[in-house]
This record gives sequence, C-alpha cells and structure tokens, in this order.
Amino acid sequence: MSGRLLVTGARVLTPGGEWPLGWIAVEGGRIAAMGQGQPPPGTEAGADVLPADGLVAMPGFIDLHVHGALGIDVLDADPEGLRRMARFFAGHGVTAWLPSTMTATGPDTDRALEAVRAVAGPVDGGATILGAYLEGPYLNPAKAGAQDPALIRPADRGEAARFLDSGVARVVVLAPEVEANRWLIAEAAARGVTVSAGHTDATYDQAVQAVEDGIRHVTHAFNAMRPLGHREPGMLGAALVLPELRCELVADNVHVHPAAMRLLFAAKGPAGVVLVSDAVRATGLPEGAYTVGDQPAFSMDGAIRLADGTLAGSVLTLDRALHNLQAATGRPLAELWPAASRNAAQAIGVDDAKGTLEPGKDADLVLLDPALKVVVTVAEGALVHGGDHLVRLSQPAIGRPSPRR
Ligand SMILES: [Zn+2]
Repeated sequence: MSGRLLVTGARVLTPGGEWPLGWIAVEGGRIAAMGQGQPPPGTEAGADVLPADGLVAMPGFIDLHVHGALGIDVLDADPEGLRRMARFFAGHGVTAWLPSTMTATGPDTDRALEAVRAVAGPVDGGATILGAYLEGPYLNPAKAGAQDPALIRPADRGEAARFLDSGVARVVVLAPEVEANRWLIAEAAARGVTVSAGHTDATYDQAVQAVEDGIRHVTHAFNAMRPLGHREPGMLGAALVLPELRCELVADNVHVHPAAMRLLFAAKGPAGVVLVSDAVRATGLPEGAYTVGDQPAFSMDGAIRLADGTLAGSVLTLDRALHNLQAATGRPLAELWPAASRNAAQAIGVDDAKGTLEPGKDADLVLLDPALKVVVTVAEGALVHGGDHLVRLSQPAIGRPSPRR
C-alpha cells in the first residue's frame, strides 16, 4: 500500500451525525480529511481507492475485554498467539483491543502481562493491542462465575503494584465491596488505569461508595453481579442510574436477554454502553470441548459453559454484538455505533486518538454491508481485512504487486 487510502461512496457515521454519502482520506496512518458527497478533484492522485458504495463507514471496533480465540488464551502468554488473535479479530471489524487475563496465580498473570507488553502497539495485518485488561484476581468469590474461586484473593499490595508496574494494564476489574480491595481503586486510578466493578456482590450503597472511591466502569453488566432488586438494586441498579459508570455488555443474546439489553441502552443512552466480546479460546472454532482457565467447558449453540452450566465467557465477536444490539433495541446505527468504539476509547482514555471518524484521529475504520457484515477493516491506515475485494491502485507502485488477485 502507498500509505494513502481514499474511501469513497460510503454512508459515514460521524460524531456530528450521519452523512448519507461521504469520503475519507487516509494518510500516514491518520484521517487526513473527510467530507460529504464526492471527494474534491485530485484527492485520488496516488491513493489506493476503496469504493464503498452501499457500505456504511464507522470507527473500527474497540474490544476492551478479550480472553482468547482460535484455540489461544491470553494466559498462554504467547506473543505470536496474541498476533494471531489480532488478525482474527480484525476480520470481525476490530481495530484495537485489550487482551484480558482472568483470575490466575501471580506468576501466570505476570507472564501474560509480559507477553502483552512484548506485542503492544500495531500488529502487522491485525488490530492494535492497546494494553491489557485484568479480570481479577481481586474479585468476590460469591460471584466467581467461571473465575476459579480458589485463586480469587484480596488485593495484595506487593502483587497488585507489580501488575500495575508492568505498564500495560489499562483496566483492572475488582470487587469494590471487598474492604481489602478499596486501596487499589485510588492507586490504579492515580496511575491512569480504569477501575471496573465486576464479579461483585456489592449492594447499592456499596456501589455508590465505589464510585466515590473512583470506579468508573462496570464489567459485563448483569453478569456476575446480584440481579436488580427493587428494594436492593445492587451494583446493577447503580450501573443503570449513575452517569459516572459505563457498562460493558456481552450482547450474544445468551449472557443477557435482548429485553435487558434494551433496558440497559434506554437507561444509559448511546454514550453509556460498551460492547465487549469476553471471547474465549473456543471463539472462531467449531463447537466442542475446550478449557476456560483450567476448567473444562463445552461450546455449543453460540455459548460456552462449564459442566454445571455456568457461562464461561463467550464465543462472540463485536460485529455480531452490534447486530444483536441493533436487533434488541431497534435503534438506528447513528445511535449505536459509539457502543462499539467511541465509548470504549473514552473508557480507557484513548479518545484523543481513537474511537471516532474525525480528521487527525487514527485511521481506524470499518466498512459494513447493510446486514452489518464486515467487508473492510483499516487499522491505523493499514488495510487489515478485505483489501483483495475492494482496493484498486489508481497508480500502481513500481515493483509492488497489486493487492488484486
Ligand atoms: Zn472476561
């Protein structure tokens, strides 16, 4: 690729509203310019052109919470495995993501963080790795879900500081009602790490305190927390009503009923929901027997469960999640797209560079067909999915093969 790319003929979803027809010029990995209608004469010179007639352009998806895919788990601590995952998710519209640990021993978590550190940044042919998401180990064993309860523990100062010192942690999930975990909320927040409430049995009052302590994010809302009670709304009730909290949603129609998704979207609005996959090792592979952590799990009918039926993460991808959210809410894409990109960027403080289609931002974008199937993915200006279908070199570079086969 020449490094210059021009998307034409697309319906474009921007922070300022929807353009029925627009163009986006990419240069040096960033969005150089964009506008409505057809690009000005001369814009095409020297650029690879992506004719996007009939397609919708929106920011590339950002998946904050991803454990695995293609037989790989983040805790395998394999940098090459993380690169393969980055390429797989790019095929589903993801342009940036956080590999996620789950509750594990200190040394296993250290190794996983080291592997993430080794590959952090853009991935050749894949989605950029922005850092790591730590799901546990400082959770509430009463809401362990598929996290190994034997390894859930209160936040140890030495261990937690070591995790944060790795420099790659972007999100730390903890149970804020566990008194021994409270110090870590302020400590992580002071280092610019987002602290999320998850696998928590917090009451409503404890959840309000957690927000005062610095919690700003909720891990897979509805799942691994007490259900909404009208006398004791719990963390979920707090998540629904407190504007400080952004809510992750695993929109696979299994973790959360579509009506509950609709409730969440109605309560939080377009800026308050963050679609995540929570994808595990079995994602992208046939149904059958797998492991999640060290526990046997079975993948079937779009869900993966432990032997006792407990959901053990998902086999979801964000393209599917957006489709399901649209079906559940009936809302237009112009309201839904932030849940797949901008809100996640804001949640981890990278919204100065990512999460919206605007001049000057990273050229992270996805082109979808009307059924929301991913046709093309561009990550930081590089065509990471779908190039052979759509690119034509208007001025083929000498000595370089055309991407058209
Ligand atoms: Zn998870």
